[in-house]
Amino acid sequence: MKLALVNRRAFLGTVGSTLSLATLAYTTRGAADTLEVRVWFSEQAATYDGVAERIREYLTATFSLEYWTLAISIGGTVSVSSEDAARLTSRGEWPMAVATGALGGREVEPASDVNLLVTDGSMETAPTGYGVPHVASVGGARHIAALESFETLVDDGPRSISPNTMPAHTMHVLLHEIGHALGLGHKHGTAFVDGDTVVATPMLSSYAWDPAYDHDRSHCGTAIPDTNGRHRALSFSFSSCARRELASYDGDVAL
Ligand SMILES: [Zn+2]
Repeated sequence: MKLALVNRRAFLGTVGSTLSLATLAYTTRGAADTLEVRVWFSEQAATYDGVAERIREYLTATFSLEYWTLAISIGGTVSVSSEDAARLTSRGEWPMAVATGALGGREVEPASDVNLLVTDGSMETAPTGYGVPHVASVGGARHIAALESFETLVDDGPRSISPNTMPAHTMHVLLHEIGHALGLGHKHGTAFVDGDTVVATPMLSSYAWDPAYDHDRSHCGTAIPDTNGRHRALSFSFSSCARRELASYDGDVAL
């Protein structure tokens, strides 16, 4: 897949380069293409055992879709200025590291599709993660270390429903930010009622029960149910409209 140059230029665009994106070729992906996701850890995130394995397991369960072959790799440990995952991406430190291929004297070899940084930042104070084209970050390594296996946590139904625990929420945000890195927006998220519970899909996630969120926005043509008096749960399966959008992903993400 000859996307490295295109993607590097796109990364530079996200951090304010004057490189023109207008000349980018229309790259197309074949049906058998690979979706490359690479995961790095802050030094503090790297102190927890089992985090990389848990991420690999959940990504495999949720991103193994029929239109690509998922290739997950571990980039290693990077030295970053903060554990505030959202800030590292929104203020450019992590996108710039991916674009330039270096951070703090260490090489950062980018993946073509998603470059995810996991820190041990707080998952209590929003924003807890951030995603821009091809680049994402999320906090909560300690919660991922405490996360149960997918098989234990998530029901075996088609909608892959789990309780809304802090470890599950953290992994849900991780999927959400990867969704952003692949061009998905909050409008690709839905929530549905299952018994006495409202279940949020990854691109809506906890916005489903955020009173400040505009619930009247169009979300895949379905209304978001009222969460008052209902339990809350998470779906580890992307909504059908998110899947349609992912099916059209061709390696380029609109900036
Ligand atoms: Zn978001």
